[in-house]
Amino acid sequence: TSFEESDLEPLLAQNIALAGYTTPTPVQKWSVTIGGAGRDMMACAQTGSGKTGGFLFPILNVAFKNGPAPGRELDTKNRSYGGRPKAMPIALILSPTRELSSQIFEESRKFCYRSWVHPCVVYGGSDIGAQISQINRGCDLLVATPGRLVDMIDRGIISLKYVQFLVLDEADRMLDMGFEPQIRKIVEGEDMPGSADRQTLMFSATFPKDIQHLARDFLKDYIFLSV
Ligand code: AMP
Repeated sequence: TSFEESDLEPLLAQNIALAGYTTPTPVQKWSVTIGGAGRDMMACAQTGSGKTGGFLFPILNVAFKNGPAPGRELDTKNRSYGGRPKAMPIALILSPTRELSSQIFEESRKFCYRSWVHPCVVYGGSDIGAQISQINRGCDLLVATPGRLVDMIDRGIISLKYVQFLVLDEADRMLDMGFEPQIRKIVEGEDMPGSADRQTLMFSATFPKDIQHLARDFLKDYIFLSV
C-alpha cells in the first residue's frame, strides 16, 4: 500500500514525498484513519515503527484541511505578554527528553513545509530566552518536555486554550522519569480543553497499570492499537 490510498491533503502528500517516504508503516496507516475519524488512540509502538509520522500525519492532515481555528489569530494578538503575542498552539506533543523532542521537531519541520503550521520546540537544560524568541516567530505545533512547558505556562508565555490535538509520546518513559505531576498539571490544567474538546493520541512501548490509568484519565472512548 502507498500513501495515495490514505487520501491525504495534497500539501501533506507532497511533503511526505519530499521526505522520501513512499509507503506508510502500519502505525501510520492506522493512525491516519483513526485520527481522521476524530477518535482518540492508545498505541503500543516501539521506536523505529514510524510512530512520529503516526501522530504528525493525522494532525497535519486535519490542520491543513481546516486551516487556523476561527478567532485564534486575533486572540493570539490580543493576549500578549511583554508586548509579544502569546503562543497558542493547536497541537501539543509531550515527549520525555531533549533528544526525542528535537527529533520530533526536525521531522515536523519537513511535514509542515509551505503550510500555515509553524512548528516549535521547548525543552529543559537549554537557554529559555532563545526558545522564547523561536516561539515568537510562530507556534502552531509545539513539541515540549513537561518541566519546561510548565515553566513557560507559569510565565504566561504559552496558553493551551486552542489545543485541538494532544500527543503523549513515549508515555512510559515520561512516567519512569518522574514527569507524572507535570503531565497532570498540563493536561488537567484549566487552560487545556477537556478530553471531549480535543483529540488525544498516546504512544507507549509498554502498557502497564500506570499507563492504563493515564489512558483512562486523558482519553475518551479510545481505540487501542498494538503494532
Ligand atoms: P520513528 O519510529 O518515528 O522514530 O521513525 C523511525 C525512522 O523511520 C525515522 O528515521 C523515520 O524518518 C523513518 N520513517 C518513518 N516512517 C517512514 C516511512 N513511512 N517510510 C520511510 N521511512 C520512514
